[in-house]
Amino acid sequence: MSDSFDVIVIGGGPAGYPAAIRAGQNKLTVACIDEWKNLDGAAAFGGTCLNAGCIPSKALLESTELYHRAHEEFAAHGIKAPDVTMDVAQMQKRKAGIVKTMTQGILALFKAAGVTPLQGHGKLLSGHRVEYTAHDGTRRELTAKNIILASGSAPIELRSAAFKSPQIVDSWGALEFPSVPKRLGVIGAGVIGLELGSVWRRLGSEVTVLEALPDFLAIADQQLAKEALRHFKKLGLDIRLGAKVTAANVAGDAVDVTYTDAKGEQKITVDRLVVAIGRRPYTKDLLGPGTGVELDERGFIKVDHECRTGAEGVWAVGDCVRGPMLAHKGKEEGVMVADLIAGHYGEVNYKTVPSVMYTAPEIAWVGLTEEQVKAQGKAYKAGVFPFMASGRARAMEQAQGFAKIIAAKDDDEILGVHIIGPMAGELIAEAVLAMEYSASSEDLQRTIHAHPTLSEALHEAALAVDKRAIDSINRY
Ligand SMILES: Cc1cc2nc3c(=O)[nH]c(=O)nc-3n(C[C@H](O)[C@H](O)[C@H](O)COP(=O)(O)OP(=O)(O)OC[C@H]3O[C@@H](n4cnc5c(N)ncnc54)[C@H](O)[C@@H]3O)c2cc1C
Repeated sequence: MSDSFDVIVIGGGPAGYPAAIRAGQNKLTVACIDEWKNLDGAAAFGGTCLNAGCIPSKALLESTELYHRAHEEFAAHGIKAPDVTMDVAQMQKRKAGIVKTMTQGILALFKAAGVTPLQGHGKLLSGHRVEYTAHDGTRRELTAKNIILASGSAPIELRSAAFKSPQIVDSWGALEFPSVPKRLGVIGAGVIGLELGSVWRRLGSEVTVLEALPDFLAIADQQLAKEALRHFKKLGLDIRLGAKVTAANVAGDAVDVTYTDAKGEQKITVDRLVVAIGRRPYTKDLLGPGTGVELDERGFIKVDHECRTGAEGVWAVGDCVRGPMLAHKGKEEGVMVADLIAGHYGEVNYKTVPSVMYTAPEIAWVGLTEEQVKAQGKAYKAGVFPFMASGRARAMEQAQGFAKIIAAKDDDEILGVHIIGPMAGELIAEAVLAMEYSASSEDLQRTIHAHPTLSEALHEAALAVDKRAIDSINRY
């Protein structure tokens, strides 16, 4: 194998591996170095997303949602299934199988694109050099005209609830529980905490979610957040806002958690505690001396809008740089950089990065929230369509939530779309495309949507922006 490449990518997660594949498609010689090892010690490409994040969490959300619906909804359809039970070991086996298939698939994609996979640690040295240490300890120096750093992120630890015992775990640990904890504590009511809390609640855990902030889902449109909170409470999540954890002490097989809220000091005891308070950029032993790559005050690798670091020929993408920590954001950055390196056009439109929570109902949004539009002092109009007025949602027995569109008052351009309801994560794609093309709400109003589909909710919400919805009362 050559030691010299056009491109070396350090990190084979959803930011790094697409960058490597696109570089290969662009006829560049490319190697992708990744050090991930799974709990069984096996090396695997795919990073957090495929091994311990997006994919395993969605597998468990799907299984537990089916189980929950069997209990809560089947009767309404006339389906009698009184003895539905969950085999947690089988659920976990299915999840592990999906992860294995998907991560091994990356190797096949690498082969097809001519990418050299290197499993082990990569360290950027000065002068276009990379030190590669294979998992067996063998060390080699590689060179490349361009180096893409895609080292990802790691869970933030809470000093008062350190990951030092099997009872206190991070999100990966919470994906691996072999049985249903009777009492589960979750610190952090963000996307990851709520998804994981939903998984285990649906299987019977008594779940308490402790969130330090006083507002629920502060990053989301507050009309949507309010609706979401109602559904999470209905599911049985005990969400406590303004609750700052001060201590978590393992006592036998349980954890005593102390927190403070507006009323003073509080205590709960749980069997497992998940710390899901966010993630931090991961750059451990990534940068050798004199590389010229700088980190900002929060540890992110500093980049410009095209993901160039300060060092010539060195780029950085994904969770290790600014912006939302989302797989699809990292993927687009990786592809953009590989195209720019090859002299092609490339860009990422950061205004249209969608966010999705795969809870039930699903929650998805793109663009500005109503609060953000107001804060910008922009004149706007908004339309809301409830799924209870959707024939398809009714037929699915999933008529909860709504679709909301916010458009500028002057030129009608869509500024933000917020959906809570069935398949919101799929529906948001239409809104992303519309915004990518700077569509107006009238553009959506004049677009034919098949009947009866869930997508009609977006059509009707667009009509509601001008108080012309047909299938619901124009109240907004
Ligand atoms: C439970 C959970 C659920 C999530 N669900 C979603 C979701 O539904 N949708 C979504 O968009 N996002 C989701 N995310 C976030 C998503 O996983 C991340 O945004 C995404 O993985 C970031 O991709 P990345 O390639 O930047 O980093 P990572 O996926 O973290 O990959 C980085 C890779 O680089 C390797 N690496 C690091 N340093 C080195 C080095 N020096 N040498 C060699 N290799 C190195 C790491 O081992 C890793 O394999 C979820 C995250 C979690 C934890």
